[in-house]
Amino acid sequence: MTTIKTTQSVYQQLRGHLTELKLADAAEALPGILDQAQAEDWTLTHALERLLAIEVTATEKRRLAGRFRFANLPTGATLENFDHDAASGIDPHLLAELGTCRFLENATNVLLIGPPGVGKTHIATGLGHAAINAGYRVYFTSAADLAARCHRAAIEGKWSTMMRFFAGPTLLIIDELGYLPLPAEAASALFQVINQRYLKTSIVITTNRPVGAWGEILGDTTVAAAMLDRLLHRSVVVPLDGASYRLRNHHAAAEEIRRATTGTNLG
Ligand code: ADP
Ligand code: MG
Repeated sequence: MTTIKTTQSVYQQLRGHLTELKLADAAEALPGILDQAQAEDWTLTHALERLLAIEVTATEKRRLAGRFRFANLPTGATLENFDHDAASGIDPHLLAELGTCRFLENATNVLLIGPPGVGKTHIATGLGHAAINAGYRVYFTSAADLAARCHRAAIEGKWSTMMRFFAGPTLLIIDELGYLPLPAEAASALFQVINQRYLKTSIVITTNRPVGAWGEILGDTTVAAAMLDRLLHRSVVVPLDGASYRLRNHHAAAEEIRRATTGTNLG
């Protein structure tokens, strides 16, 4: 009777310790592990390893989900579902190499340059996806959004907080530079973000404008030159071309409708 009571209270204490230490998954798995340990005659070491492995797996899963939530990726696009037959002009080997995330180890930047619809955002998002899975902190934003947030932060006296925020992630993805011309103040915010990450952490930028036209986008050739200097110093420039994948899908959809309505295949 006493032993049963003692066993029960030790069990309750152990559960209490796990809960106190916020090891909720281990606490929940405890009875099952103890039963299994007894049934299969596990050693104490084996049982403890199994119990903590459950907590470690759950923690990793939570962290991964947290990194995905934080990253703000616009779609579920991955490098794996990038279609190489779509003639985007990108070397599959280069893409595979970027996908290993080794470029993050020495703060290399990646510039994806090309006309609309060729897969720039898809690849940038895919790189973000790969980096998150590899354990890195990633943040995705558009150039316009970054500029707007810096502008607001300046007004609210939170400039340095904002700068720290954009310095934080190991990979910062800035999408759609050049779609809208940036006011001088925005260009200078962008420059500061790039400058403080320079040689420390990577940036992936997508743009529809060749680097020669950045003076126009930024409304100031000096800022553009300084920005490019930092960005290109250690970088991989990936030019993309070919037909727009977006339009290709439109063509395919239009063809589908035509076939459905006329019953003929004109393709
Ligand atoms: P961009 O940013 O260059 O304008 P996106 O990356 O947004 O183009 O691509 C437009 C759409 O086409 C997206 O839905 C994207 O996932 C898809 N897409 C583009 N290129 C490819 C490709 N090579 N393989 C698969 N999907 C692609
Ligand atoms: Mg895009």
